[in-house]
Amino acid sequence: MVDHLVNTEINSQRIAAVESCFGASGQPLALPGRVLLGEGILTKECRKKAKPRIFFLFNDILVYGSIVINKRKYSSQHIIPLEEVTLETLPSTWNAKNRWMIKTSKKSFVVSAASVTEREEWIRHIEECVRRQLRATGRPPTTEHAAPWIPDKATDICMRCTQTKFSALTRRHHCRKCGFVVCGDCSRERFLMPRLSSKPLRVCGLCYRELVAEKRKEEEGEPEEEGRRQPQQDLAHSQGTTYGASSGEDESDKSDEEKDGGSAGSWPTGLEFYASGVKWSSFHS
Ligand SMILES: [Zn+2]
Ligand SMILES: [Zn+2]
Repeated sequence: MVDHLVNTEINSQRIAAVESCFGASGQPLALPGRVLLGEGILTKECRKKAKPRIFFLFNDILVYGSIVINKRKYSSQHIIPLEEVTLETLPSTWNAKNRWMIKTSKKSFVVSAASVTEREEWIRHIEECVRRQLRATGRPPTTEHAAPWIPDKATDICMRCTQTKFSALTRRHHCRKCGFVVCGDCSRERFLMPRLSSKPLRVCGLCYRELVAEKRKEEEGEPEEEGRRQPQQDLAHSQGTTYGASSGEDESDKSDEEKDGGSAGSWPTGLEFYASGVKWSSFHS
């Protein structure tokens, strides 16, 4: 499905169009052998609420961003190397259907498609690309994944102490290890997790104690479990550093998730999105 598009004029034109929509805010995307396979609008479950995002599936990367003007201007570009990706289909919630999780070692998040068919297409194409990438690079699939952030609205109380009630003054924080919504008191600690960031990140008390214990064990030179070393080795020869700038944005509480594309509010989200009957995604064959 990919090969006949490699080095074709139509493929170059499509990639150039994506580059031009992101403009100076994006990275150059044209690369020998790279093919743009599909594109479309998916709803991404962000910290505050679900938001429409534009997604581009290439044979080696998944690119997404905020929609300023559809097919004209996109911003907040993120690039995910497909060899790090695994997918997990998720059940519907009261306001979100056709969901699945995109998991990587750096970041995991939930998206949904307008219809079951679109979800099937996305998953089928992504998984096919991941398989091809892993075959080409000889890498094993990534086994360790970042915990997805629990959305803010999922809880009114701290998920650790279950005492603190959140309000305008008592703000929610996210543990970077488990993704739980916690209060400031329950997330005083910072811990360096090189897989996620070069800076120490906010973690909840429970995760902190676990991480410290884990580290102590390692320092005492206990034999490591099979597979524990995997992420480290992966990091060393992955493209993580190249794409770090765009994918490791969760370093502060004010991640890009807070920002909206200019007119993104005019896109249907929630039930409208699933009931619109519009085809939001297309794949090039
Ligand atoms: Zn708490
Ligand atoms: Zn935690």
